[in-house]
Order: sequence, then structure tokens, then C-alpha cells
Amino acid sequence: MSADRGVLAIYPGSFDPVTRGHEDIARRTLRLADRVLIAVAETSTQRKQPLFTVEERLELLREVFRDEPRVECASFSGLLVDFARSRGAHCIIRGLRAVSDFEYEFQMAQMNRQLWSEAETVFLTPDVPFAFLSASLVREVAALGGDVSAFVSPPVLEAMRRKLGGEARKGEFP
Ligand code: ADP
Repeated sequence: MSADRGVLAIYPGSFDPVTRGHEDIARRTLRLADRVLIAVAETSTQRKQPLFTVEERLELLREVFRDEPRVECASFSGLLVDFARSRGAHCIIRGLRAVSDFEYEFQMAQMNRQLWSEAETVFLTPDVPFAFLSASLVREVAALGGDVSAFVSPPVLEAMRRKLGGEARKGEFP
């Protein structure tokens, strides 16, 4: 990344799948930074059995941000700070929902600063309707046949229907 291309923010996560909460945070980031690199972690510390493959998650992210040339999507393995540094990122973006995110995020920000002293983590809060939304909750509700159309974009909804349609039939869910 060269200085003439402005401020680059990196927004890491698992995005399994991208929700309207993630989308809200990425679009807000563009008010502060010139470009956002959405970085899908190949090795998740949180979830062993993902719903979508990393490639599928990237495809959905690219579809959702089709209208926004300042958003780029890539996957990474290993340490976030190494990837961020290699791409010339200036800051790390994380979303903060209701209080539950705070402790983990605070620890992570301190650790990343320890690993890379220039790493500044910027926390953004989402619009109120997304303040309690998580990808895991969306996956659970959708797997049980619930309507998640308020929480994910149409291409994501469609991909979840295709994916869970097969699985749900196996488990005799609608
Ligand atoms: P999730 O926790 O939904 O599985 P990720 O691991 O992909 O999501 O999260 C990536 C980042 O996006 C984290 O900083 C997380 O706190 C943030 N995030 C996820 N959902 C929301 C939301 N609804 N509002 C604000 N931030 C969010």
C-alpha cells in the first residue's frame, strides 16, 4: 500500500456469512478511511464447523459490496498483524455490539499492539437494529427454518437457502 492511495483499514473476521451488521460496519469505516480490506480468517479460533467455505464467504462479500469499489476482500491465514502489515494497512477495524464483545475485543487489541506496535484498533458501533446480531445466531435461526431476511442481504439469504435447504431436508426441517 502506498501513501498516495490513502488510509487503508483492515476489517478481519470470519464472515460466515456476511450479515447486515458486518455490512454496516464496513460502510461506516469508509467515512474514516479511503479503502477497506475485508479479511476473512481461514483459521477461525471461534468455530470448528463453518457453514460456508472461505471461498464462498469471499464470493458473498464481493457480491454484497459490488457497488463499492473502495472495498476489497481477501482471505488470510496466520496472524492478522502479519497480513495487515504485508498489505500496508493503517488500522484494524472491529465492530462492538452490546457489552458482550468488549472484553474479548479489548484483549485482542492489546495483543495485536504487543505484536505490532503501530497497530491501532478502531472500534465502531453498528446501527441499533444490528446491535445484537451475530452470524452464528443467523445461522442457527436459518437452520431451524426461521426468517433471517432482515439480517442478511438477498444474495446471502439465497445462498443460505441453497445450503441449508439440503441440510434441512436431511434433518427434516422445513
Ligand atoms: P460474528 O461474531 O458475527 O460471527 P465475525 O467473527 O465475522 O462475526 O466478526 C467480525 C467483526 O465484526 C468483529 O469485530 C465483530 O464484533 C463484528 N461484528 C459482527 N457482527 C456485528 C454487528 N452486528 N454489529 C457490529 N459489529 C459486528
